[in-house]
Amino acid sequence: MSDNRRLRIAVQKSGRLSKDSIELLKAIGIKLNIRDRLLIAHSTNEDIDLLRVRDDDIPGLVMDGVVDMGFIGENELEEKMLERKAAGKIADYEVMRRLDYGGCRLSIAVPNEANYSGVQSLEGKRVATTYPFLLERYFKEQNVNAQAVMLTGSVEVAPRAGVAEGICDLVSTGATLEANGLVEKDVIFRSKAVLIKRTGEFSTEKQALIDRLVPRIDGVMQAKESKYIMLHAPKARLEEVKDLLPGAENPTVLPLAGAEDTVAIHVVSPENLFWETMEKLKALGCSSILVMPIEKMMG
Ligand code: ATP
Ligand code: MG
Repeated sequence: MSDNRRLRIAVQKSGRLSKDSIELLKAIGIKLNIRDRLLIAHSTNEDIDLLRVRDDDIPGLVMDGVVDMGFIGENELEEKMLERKAAGKIADYEVMRRLDYGGCRLSIAVPNEANYSGVQSLEGKRVATTYPFLLERYFKEQNVNAQAVMLTGSVEVAPRAGVAEGICDLVSTGATLEANGLVEKDVIFRSKAVLIKRTGEFSTEKQALIDRLVPRIDGVMQAKESKYIMLHAPKARLEEVKDLLPGAENPTVLPLAGAEDTVAIHVVSPENLFWETMEKLKALGCSSILVMPIEKMMG
């Protein structure tokens, strides 16, 4: 089943990174036939196989060269890197792109009623976490003698269970912390999903495939942030209108049939247009202001 000529990419099988990673692969033109129970999914239009695994396994698979690339959260990647280095294992990889999903932070939190005046307050205490290496590195940097207690799940109940005085866990909204009577205190690591690849040479074919796909990722990410803006503007206010449009140094200006004093302006904006800007444009006499999403971009 495994063919070494095909590019092997590891993705999280099911979890917070799965959907966005698969969607990104689809958006860059890779057709996938994913069957829920199967570890491997073959692309039907490119020489690519997906390996669907737990996210914990992805850094090691890349570092051992078992797969060529992987989508992984920086938190997990950095933790595994430290763990492997401590065990004297190879921990090399290359980050190809930082992606626009999977955002979260690894934070220290303590019970609402705890006396906390900075990480020094944890001196001599126990902190439950799934990321002991990241946490211990932080303690070392901060010169704090505290103990990281490894828990692979239910970290947030550790203080109530009397297992630890604080926790260090991933947070995105803070709702889980609040529900467990905890307050976020120190952010020790900020994370996003990244696309990584193994070190070492690739065959000419694999390299050519990578070189074709990576610019498409840039195109998809750029397109998500960009907008296509169209509007009608009074000719006399053209310069003021241009000044209001982000990235509109050279907009396309088109004549409007039957309207001598008005032109149509089209522009690809690198960012969204805020309501406030639209209102200012309207005040200048602009009309029919349209802001549209862009699906793909190149060049
Ligand atoms: P697996 O079964 O694959 O081991 P998991 O339970 O370890 O799954 P998930 O909860 O699916 O992992 O999270 C995967 C990654 O998603 C995290 O390591 C992190 O990079 C990212 N992430 C984004 N937001 C959050 C969040 N609010 N909480 C936890 N992880 C988040
Ligand atoms: Mg995991």
